[in-house]
Formats: sequence, C-alpha cells, structure tokens
Amino acid sequence: MKQWPAWLPLRQNLQELSPYGAPQLPAEAVMNTNENPYPPSPALAKAIADRISEVALNLNRYPDRDATVLRSKLAQFINGLSGTECNLNNIWAANGSNEIIQSLFMAFGGGAALGFTPSYSMHPLIAKVTQVQWINGKRRDDFSLDVDSAIAQIQREKPHLTFITTPNNPTGSSVTIGEIEKIAKATSGLLIIDEAYAEFSDEESAVTLIKRYPHVVVIRTMSKAFAFAGVRLGYLVADSAVIDAMFLVRLPYHLSALTQAAAEVALDFKDELLGTVAQLRTDRDRVAAQLTDLGLTVIPSASNFLLFSGFAMPSEQLWRAMLDRGVLIRDVGLLGYLRVTIGNEAENTKFISTLSACLGEK
Ligand SMILES: *Cc1c(COP(=O)(O)O)cnc(C)c1O
Repeated sequence: MKQWPAWLPLRQNLQELSPYGAPQLPAEAVMNTNENPYPPSPALAKAIADRISEVALNLNRYPDRDATVLRSKLAQFINGLSGTECNLNNIWAANGSNEIIQSLFMAFGGGAALGFTPSYSMHPLIAKVTQVQWINGKRRDDFSLDVDSAIAQIQREKPHLTFITTPNNPTGSSVTIGEIEKIAKATSGLLIIDEAYAEFSDEESAVTLIKRYPHVVVIRTMSKAFAFAGVRLGYLVADSAVIDAMFLVRLPYHLSALTQAAAEVALDFKDELLGTVAQLRTDRDRVAAQLTDLGLTVIPSASNFLLFSGFAMPSEQLWRAMLDRGVLIRDVGLLGYLRVTIGNEAENTKFISTLSACLGEK
C-alpha cells in the first residue's frame, strides 16, 4: 500500500486504492484489454478527418451540451439492432461507459450497490471513488449466475443499484434475457445491465425490457465490438426518467465537439465497424478449441475473450513468461486463471504457439 504524504488531505477511502491499470506495455501481440484488433479503414479515417476539420472551424464555441444529434443517432442504431422504439430521451452518452457508471453512482448511489463477482472490476472501484457502499454478490463456483440466489441476495440487501454484466467480464459467460426478466420482476432499485460485449452474443439485448420494466437500464459502449475504443464513447439506454437524472450529475459540456463528431461519423459506418464481429466469434471458438487441445479448461464465452485455467504454474508466472515472448494477456487476479482477448489471425497464432511453448508442450 502506497504511503501518501501526511500533508496531503487525500480522502480516507482513497488511501488504500491503487489506480486502475491494465498494463500498457509494448508487445508484438497486445491481447489484454478486449479491444477489437481491426483498425478503421482508410475511408472511415478520412471521413472522420473531414468531419473534424469542419467542426474545428467552430472550436471557439462550446459543443452541443446535450449531444442531441449523437443521441438521436444512437437511438436509431439501437432500434435497428433490437427493434425498440427509443428516441434521444432514452439515451445518454458520455466519455466511455466508465463515465456512465460513475454518473449512475452519483445520481442513484444514496443506497448500496450490488454486483456478482467476479465481474467487471471497475464497478466496485468507481463505487468506492464515489463513496457508494459496494456489496460483493455471489455466483456459483463455476462463475455462472444462479438466478434464484441472485434474486434472494437482491431482496435481502435491497441495493439501490444492482449490476449484471452479460456477457460477463472476465468470464465471458452470459445470462439469458428470460433470466434478466425474472430478476427484473422480482427486484426494485435500478437493475443495470452492462452489455459491453452484447454484439458478440446471440442473446437478445435487455433494451427490449425497458418499456415494461422502467427500472432496467442498459450500458453499451463503442469500445469493444464497435472497434472505436480510442474515441471514448459509452452510452446508456433507459427510461426517460433515468436520463433526466443524468442531466443533474453531468459536467457541463462533458462530451467534446470532436468526440461527438467522430462518433456520429462512426455510426454512419456501423456496417464496416461491426463487420468483424462474425470473424471474431469464429476465431474465438477456434482459439477455445486450441486451448482445450493444449489440455487447458476454457469457460464457454459469448464475448471476444476467453478465460482459461488448468496450467500448473502461478498465473503471474505464466503471464510474465508470455510477455517475455511478446504476448501481452491479462492476469485478472483470479488464482489459476488468465484471460486472452481474441486478436487478428497472426496474433491468435502467436498466442497459441507461445502458450504451447510456455507450457512446455513442444
Ligand atoms: C471494457 C468494459 C467497459 C468499459 O468500457 P468503456 O466504454 O471503454 O469505458 C464497461 N463494462 C465492461 C464489462 C467492460 O468490459
């Protein structure tokens, strides 16, 4: 634990924290943060650059504070994917879904927040920073979610916010829309469905539940399947009352004119940007089979990453051995497990051959 100087009036609850940090290290194959490995086409890059040059002529002015064009386009995008009837009053946009999560805590964190761990590590971390009490909910030993147990835990703890990540990070497993509806029916408070990886899954999106269950709110992002992590654009799909509350906690002009412009152009290129999802799903299944062939155990994944176990050495040691050979994967802090993001063909091949070498199989 870091020793902070005595003169620094750092909040008590922050003194024991470490900054979020997937290591950003140079490696031949970077497979640790669940990004889409395929960059935008030159045509898309040019369209963004053209749009940004237009917008740049107005950078003396603040951006549209309410991001109305972008939110309308996001509503159309979601309606196209899920057959819903959302409009901009059902959408909030921010600098990554992490900012969305922070805003939810700021608006609704008067009571506790509950999530079923292991899950996305930023949920409890942002709770801590915003001084919201966090409760670690339980999963089965195989990390799947026991819905009846989840309902009992929610009814016992009565959280203001309950998080369900599906497909779940770091395990890759998903819960069905029927299971989410069952939880929604049996619980109050906000039920927050983090769908960062939804595009990789066959499950119907929980956005289809919002009309009947207004306490269901769905977080989405352009950072993963949408292949646009560098722009930092996350969004919330929810009942308009939830969106109204977001206006209370947002910082003025939180979304820069450049971000809004780039994200709007990206939505015009959605077919290109989501065009690699099918490929990544096929490659995920192939890499999973190859891991099994190496004698490892893989949790069935509906996302673009795999959590695997079954190696003899400590996770930390295997992680380091892989990095020393140019492959950066993720130690998610689960004893005996490591996580790999599906990369392009060369990266996947390098991953498997390097892992095979590290395990001493060859
Ligand atoms: C990556 C990830 C996010 C964060 O996304 P940003 O939009 O890049 O902030 C949110 N939730 C989960 C579960 C993730 O894995």
